[in-house]
Amino acid sequence: MRYDQRRWLFTVIFLFSSMSIAADNVIVRYLPTNDIKLQPMAKKLQSDSSIQDAITLMNEAFIFLQPLTIVFGANDGPLYDPTRNYILIPYTFLDEVEQRFKAVNYVGDNQGNANPENLVQVVMDVLIHTLFHELAHALITTYELPIVGKEEDAADNLAAVLSIEYFENGAEIAISAADLFYLEGDEITEFEEADFWDEHSLDLQRYYATLCHVYGSDDTQYAYLLEDTGFSDERAELCIGNYERMTNNWLTLLDVYMSPEVDASTPGN
Ligand SMILES: [Zn+2]
Repeated sequence: MRYDQRRWLFTVIFLFSSMSIAADNVIVRYLPTNDIKLQPMAKKLQSDSSIQDAITLMNEAFIFLQPLTIVFGANDGPLYDPTRNYILIPYTFLDEVEQRFKAVNYVGDNQGNANPENLVQVVMDVLIHTLFHELAHALITTYELPIVGKEEDAADNLAAVLSIEYFENGAEIAISAADLFYLEGDEITEFEEADFWDEHSLDLQRYYATLCHVYGSDDTQYAYLLEDTGFSDERAELCIGNYERMTNNWLTLLDVYMSPEVDASTPGN
């Protein structure tokens, strides 16, 4: 099954042009920061069109029992706080992500000069993936969705599905998030017990799982990932079937909690 990746964009245009926008389903707060180092990214957040698109998707596509509040500039996080229905995103998280990508010249030329615009974009990619991951926790908690297996893996899966299916070139969002998992995993020189009993899968497992979804979503366009990841033919084949099943399962689970105008469970537009 293939979904129209541009459906969301068309739907946004349709919604804006033909009906009033549901108010305050998602509330966004941008807290000020006194830290000069964090201020440019904090400012960029408010004007970045991809972040605004992600927030619009959350606001328009999902039905919440009480408004979901996203707090940028929180002290804790990234996390979902079920007691207040808040998603908390610290500016320091974005700074750490930026520094990690910068340190490996992720978007640089071969002279080692980083392209600042591209660097901001990959940070925003990671933020979109993170927002969708926390959205998954919010939906699972609010509607007591039946998740069989690790909730953290399910949240990563929804983040991949929403990025890939609802954003033009959304697989790039998932790839940036995967590469961050890789960089985080690469820093670990020795595993501790806590790494294995943690509720999250290991960073490198999250890296491979996310790239498996990207490959599974379009095995022609992302054929190059087979070389990058070293997936066997059997694993690559499983990625294709798993992605289709995972997408169907998530969209079926969410069907009654999504606005009909942006219901992606009826593919083929
Ligand atoms: Zn989580």
